[in-house]
Amino acid sequence: MASLTFDPTYAPHGGRHRRQSVISRPGAVPRPVVAEVATILAGLGFGACVALAVTAESWKQLAAPGGVTMFLGNLSGLAGTYLALIMVLLVSRVPMVERVLGQDKLLASHRRLAPWPISLIVAHAVLLTFAYAEAARTGVWYQIGAFIRSYPNMLTATVALVVMVAIAVTSVYSIRRRLRRETWWAVHLFMYLALALAFTHEIALGPSFVGHPLTRFVWSVLWASTAGLVLVYRFGLPLFRTLRHRLEVVEIHPEGPGTVSVICRGKHLDRLAVAGGQFFEWRFLTKGMWWQAHPFSLSALPRPPFLRLTVKGIGDYSSAVARLRPGTRVAIEGPYGAFTTHARRRSKVVLIAGGIGVTAIRSLLEDLPRDCDPVVILRASSAEELALASEVAELVRHRKGRVHELVGSRSEVRTDRLSELVPDLQNRDVYVSGPEEFVNRVVATVLRLGVPKDSVHFEVYSL
Ligand SMILES: Cc1cc2nc3c(=O)[nH]c(=O)nc-3n(C[C@H](O)[C@H](O)[C@H](O)COP(=O)(O)OP(=O)(O)OC[C@H]3O[C@@H](n4cnc5c(N)ncnc54)[C@H](O)[C@@H]3O)c2cc1C
Repeated sequence: MASLTFDPTYAPHGGRHRRQSVISRPGAVPRPVVAEVATILAGLGFGACVALAVTAESWKQLAAPGGVTMFLGNLSGLAGTYLALIMVLLVSRVPMVERVLGQDKLLASHRRLAPWPISLIVAHAVLLTFAYAEAARTGVWYQIGAFIRSYPNMLTATVALVVMVAIAVTSVYSIRRRLRRETWWAVHLFMYLALALAFTHEIALGPSFVGHPLTRFVWSVLWASTAGLVLVYRFGLPLFRTLRHRLEVVEIHPEGPGTVSVICRGKHLDRLAVAGGQFFEWRFLTKGMWWQAHPFSLSALPRPPFLRLTVKGIGDYSSAVARLRPGTRVAIEGPYGAFTTHARRRSKVVLIAGGIGVTAIRSLLEDLPRDCDPVVILRASSAEELALASEVAELVRHRKGRVHELVGSRSEVRTDRLSELVPDLQNRDVYVSGPEEFVNRVVATVLRLGVPKDSVHFEVYSL
């Protein structure tokens, strides 16, 4: 059934049957070189930090009591805070980098890196306490008291350390999965405070900075620029887009059991550069929902003045979406994601959606060139759960492709049927989206069937 406000009917660009025009501003093209340069610069920066710590020590200092421990403490402190800075940059959502790697890869790198800065910073605190105690010939506990009482900014640095350790503990997988995502997220935000508190003691006490105005200046600029990027891209740009586009819910449209499309109307949507397959973080400004933002993909390219997302209720927030009232204001952050036509390496494609993963596939399909010969595989446990299937079928028909609907329980529908459904699978780019377990299974299967890694693109519906 077509919506009252949003017409999802496909009409080829410039076609006679077009009822609502599709977006006029395509998503920006990712430039992989940006990510490569950023990686090289990050590596060079780490090398510079190690060099800085090494050159700040003299043989005489190393030979003094506690000298080697003190050097290791200073080195681990500098390396640890530098890696913490890289971690912040990985989640700062700089669009040029995000477009190439996508938020999932950036977050995965952030998580992989996480144990290093925290371990190095803890090692820094422990090593320096022992080193100073040895040099002053006092006990460790006495030294801790002396640090807090008599050294500049050491109290704030101690608070920062406690906060960092608390955040690290809540991030351990077995603990994290017991916490509500929102609780964990709120705790996580304190890392910014901890890093700011730690910064002041580094500058005041770090041997690489005391008496070295140039390194002090460079380090300060580096941290100030990182803070600037976070402020601009995590807060400023979303606020600007929210105010510029002034989105509000105009209709909730049922799509299947527990699944609804939310149609939003906004201003200047022809100026919103977005590619099919991308997602936004959506914050519905209504009681109980305004304080959290959740990621949902666009389920169609924008049709100014409308934007559409399609949501399956699986928890508190996503279920509350079905009860949104027309007129609810919406704040957005994004668009994010590298699951777009720009990732394509070959001309032909296979698009595979598990359940609600159809949303990204639906909007991506709309953005793919007409000669991409799409084979679309939609997987759901029952026929009613095949949301947006008729829209997908229409888009595929216009591209002279094929759709396969795989319906049934997991044991009935096996992903290893892929080579049977798509005999030329190895010659196509494969896009997969949906729940994590589904995506992992399909990606492993297509890699095993010989599709090269750089032709496999996926969007996992959990971050
Ligand atoms: C890139 C991306 C695109 C997505 N697109 C869609 C879409 O188009 N349609 C759709 O229905 N769903 C989509 N999702 C999934 C959707 O974000 C979650 O279902 C929703 O956030 C669950 O929140 P909840 O409070 O209802 O459930 P909860 O009970 O909080 O969580 C249920 C599950 O969702 C995960 N989750 C919860 N909150 C978040 C969050 N803020 N970010 C990431 N994962 C979370 C949890 O890890 C858990 O596994 C997408 C997810 C991602 C990462």
